[in-house]
Amino acid sequence: MSRQVIIIGRPNVGKSTLFNRLVGKKLALVDDQPGVTRDRRFGEAHLLGLDFTIVDTAGWEEEDPTSLSGRMRMQTMAALEGADVALFVVDARHGITPLDDEIGRYLREQKVPVILVANKAEGRAGEGGYYESYTLGMGDPVAISAEHGEGMAELFEALLPFF
Ligand code: GDP
Ligand code: MG
Repeated sequence: MSRQVIIIGRPNVGKSTLFNRLVGKKLALVDDQPGVTRDRRFGEAHLLGLDFTIVDTAGWEEEDPTSLSGRMRMQTMAALEGADVALFVVDARHGITPLDDEIGRYLREQKVPVILVANKAEGRAGEGGYYESYTLGMGDPVAISAEHGEGMAELFEALLPFF
């Protein structure tokens, strides 16, 4: 069975851009499941030699567990159960926020192995946030630019041990 890699992170860090980059616009076999799993998007990803199922999530929009967003967040948490590895995406331009810290604390309590990914790392503007992401205590961040396709070989290397 195909390995499942889940993309987690606060809004606007570039999760969906990374998803689209890994799935590829032409090859996209995207499964938008309305209703029950509207917080998740599945695709068949290709990264150098690796083929895997990638899951895009959008579950961290709000704090309130009774809101729709709160329920989506619980679905995102549930989705972690089926994942072999999580890509925890942060924004290297914006730096680490309290919500990043919260997601990091949550992920550390889970069984799923986590790869920290510092996106938007192209150019000098990403350096501060890249180093700041070490404070999450989740190991060496992998610097990427989902938009420009940079750091994909490093992401491949980070994923390889889980295949
Ligand atoms: P999501 O909410 O985490 O799914 O984030 P999106 O994928 O929707 O991206 C949020 C914004 O960040 C969009 O305006 C993207 O164009 C931008 N973005 C995504 N990846 C990069 C990147 O590598 N570099 C820069 N500079 N911007 C990016
Ligand atoms: Mg998104």
